[in-house]
Amino acid sequence: MGIKELNQLKVVLYSYLFLMALNGKLQGQFNNFYIKEMVKMKVALIIGHNQRSKGAYSQIVGSEYDYWKRIAEKIKTEIPALVDVYERKPNKFYVPEMEEVLKELNKNDYKFCLELHFNSSTNSQANGCECLVYYKNNKAKELATNFMARLQNIFGSKIRGNHGIIEIQDSKTRGGYGICNSKDTYILLEPFFGSNNDESLKFSIEKDVANLFINFIKENI
Ligand SMILES: [Zn+2]
Repeated sequence: MGIKELNQLKVVLYSYLFLMALNGKLQGQFNNFYIKEMVKMKVALIIGHNQRSKGAYSQIVGSEYDYWKRIAEKIKTEIPALVDVYERKPNKFYVPEMEEVLKELNKNDYKFCLELHFNSSTNSQANGCECLVYYKNNKAKELATNFMARLQNIFGSKIRGNHGIIEIQDSKTRGGYGICNSKDTYILLEPFFGSNNDESLKFSIEKDVANLFINFIKENI
């Protein structure tokens, strides 16, 4: 064997070793990814607002905070192993309150996180649902679309604006804090208008609302 053949052989051998190493690394990464996805078997529910600042008020269902606290508790009772419920501990301001929630939230791996609100308008006829998501997160958009299709089927909700999706690009936009600072997929839900009495009446049947969430979570986890 001449020098030339020997060099060729070396190239073949090194290429082979390189490919084997790469293969091993990729497999390891795949396994890690797979294991991580398997662990994500929980959903986080973040109650919008708190005792200090209860959010919008509806004549039919009460404040955003009181309403969603009741609904979140109902969901937790039905599927305790699948959800964690978060609440903003009252501080002076919104940002430090959210910082604390996000610090806890980001210690865990969630399949997705849902921040719970309802909409309000001076126009008592305003109605329908919409969701806020991070503009680059397609999984959030898919989940939000699925969620709103359920609202449409069960409550006859109108899907507002551009397929009900409001894309958030930065943390300072209203409602953007959790969406931009959560490491896992995070959706802010506005399923109805508390200021619309007809629409609020449908959502005052809390068992139906909780069941919609329970089915949505079970079918998307
Ligand atoms: Zn709100």
